[in-house]
Amino acid sequence: MIRFSHFFTLLVFTVVSLFSVTGCGVAMMSDERLARQSKSQFSQMKKKDPVSKNAKYQRMVKRIGKRITDVAKVDVPGTEWEFVVFDKSEPNAFAMPGGKVGVNSGLIELANEDEDEVAAVIGHEVAHVARRHSNKRMSQGVGVALGGIILDTAMRNKSSGDRALARGAYGVGATVGAVLPFSRSQEREADDLGLIYAAKAGYDPRASIRFWKKMQSKSRRKMPQFLSTHPDSGNRINYLESKMPYAMNLYRNAK
Ligand SMILES: [Zn+2]
Repeated sequence: MIRFSHFFTLLVFTVVSLFSVTGCGVAMMSDERLARQSKSQFSQMKKKDPVSKNAKYQRMVKRIGKRITDVAKVDVPGTEWEFVVFDKSEPNAFAMPGGKVGVNSGLIELANEDEDEVAAVIGHEVAHVARRHSNKRMSQGVGVALGGIILDTAMRNKSSGDRALARGAYGVGATVGAVLPFSRSQEREADDLGLIYAAKAGYDPRASIRFWKKMQSKSRRKMPQFLSTHPDSGNRINYLESKMPYAMNLYRNAK
């Protein structure tokens, strides 16, 4: 009983501190506040998780990030873009509020170091930030906050990166059950906008289909959990194909 009430107090405190109240009940956390928290999580990750020493990879993601964000013109307050490669073998990438984007070296390898393919993923991640998907998901309510506490507790022994992911980052090729699945509509929105960003930035949009096909066959063979966080990856390819004439037009105009 004591234990429960203690837990309840902790829960209420956490929920209150998680959500800013604006006079009309539980609201979205301010973008600035969320960006600050993400920035500190991201700098923790860079201290604890292996940052890739591959200078070519680091230059590549920074170059792609600059070109994509130049055309995306994201106006979410508190956003300061940063693109970092982590030395991890699973093909994964994530973006956090505040514009912090991580790409695993394994993803660049799966893309055969093809810049257009990596740009497809970075476009998708930038789109999640642009549309404030994390904030929207958190504002869905206490259920998510409670889930966050349980995840934090369950993941005490995991790397700081995995914990940060569990708390509200976005993942492409997300690992384990750590990442709450995105809603299908958020994934679709990120696919759509990401394709447009990459094409406008001068990256061949057809590379997105190439990359997602590789991701799909890899997830079938080795990472069944991928399908639980990205359940519509088959539809994703059909959708991208349907958007290709439009994207190719943007791409040709960008060149
Ligand atoms: Zn996504």
